[in-house]
Amino acid sequence: MSTLYNKKDKATLLRELAQENFVRKTLSFYRYVKLDDLKALRDALFLEWRELNVLGRVYVAHEGINAQISLPEHNLELFREKLDQRPQFKDVPFKMAVEEGASFFKLIVKIKHEIVAYRISESEYDMSNVGKHLSAQEFNQAIDEGAIVVDMRNQYETEVGHFKNAIIPDVERSQELLAEAKRLLEGQENKKILLCCTGGIRCEKASAYLIHHGFKDVNQLNGGIIQYAHEVQSTSTPSKFIGKNFVFDSRLGERITDDVISHCHQCGTKCDNHIDCANELCHILFIQCESCAEKYNHCCSQQCADFLQLPKEEQQRLRKSKKLQFSAQKYGRHGKPQIHIAS
Ligand SMILES: [Zn+2]
Ligand SMILES: [Zn+2]
Repeated sequence: MSTLYNKKDKATLLRELAQENFVRKTLSFYRYVKLDDLKALRDALFLEWRELNVLGRVYVAHEGINAQISLPEHNLELFREKLDQRPQFKDVPFKMAVEEGASFFKLIVKIKHEIVAYRISESEYDMSNVGKHLSAQEFNQAIDEGAIVVDMRNQYETEVGHFKNAIIPDVERSQELLAEAKRLLEGQENKKILLCCTGGIRCEKASAYLIHHGFKDVNQLNGGIIQYAHEVQSTSTPSKFIGKNFVFDSRLGERITDDVISHCHQCGTKCDNHIDCANELCHILFIQCESCAEKYNHCCSQQCADFLQLPKEEQQRLRKSKKLQFSAQKYGRHGKPQIHIAS
């Protein structure tokens, strides 16, 4: 019997990935659709996709599917065919990456409670009544006509790139986002509202929520910032989105324009490179420039850099003592907006 989970360690997986002699494509797709028997579906997708050498992170829930994957270019057509054979996923639009790069190194298919964790009750939205989908050109035109843009992503994502003049709810966790967006828009129920997010999935639910709460003209960017970037590039339209589009794989971002709008969290110099702290016990996500990367050995703080210098046995001993508190333990995985941990 074949296994239903990846059992190789990370080093082996990365080595295998580096030895591949074909091109991979990174893409994402989602659909809100009623799914039953999640366990059987999950196992079937895992086996089918592993056969096609698909890597990535896929969530299935009773409300739908959210997939971010990479696969060999030569299997793309077959993957599409197999997906279309399942009525619930037929013709689901793919969003191809704007910039390629090593994005995933293993395949994870997980059963989730929701595909977007806004943690709102089902009585607060109706997925059959969502915002109108706008193309990049329609979105740009609406901005020119004075519509209000609201970014439905988290602070650490918007920090490196966003639409000019967008309202950016200052929250660190998705669970707080909808309530905060509604609060910021209070009194503007009759205005034209434009929502945007990475690939569109969050705006589907967010728009349904705002409509439920009395907003009359709610619109969403079709295919999210990924699709927007493709559309403005292919039509040579100036981008109203500046900087980088944060993505949830090892690339951590796709450059949309050359603007660098954020700063190194350690020295304050202009920089928009997100990295994970090299100390795996910390692993905080933060922005670090090249000279700080050298200075702190790719760590978020002197504390993490010092820890990595210790002999392995000493690291183990400290780890077992359970008294360690690195930045991620103090501030959360996504840290503070400007952590400036180093003094
Ligand atoms: Zn720096
Ligand atoms: Zn750290």
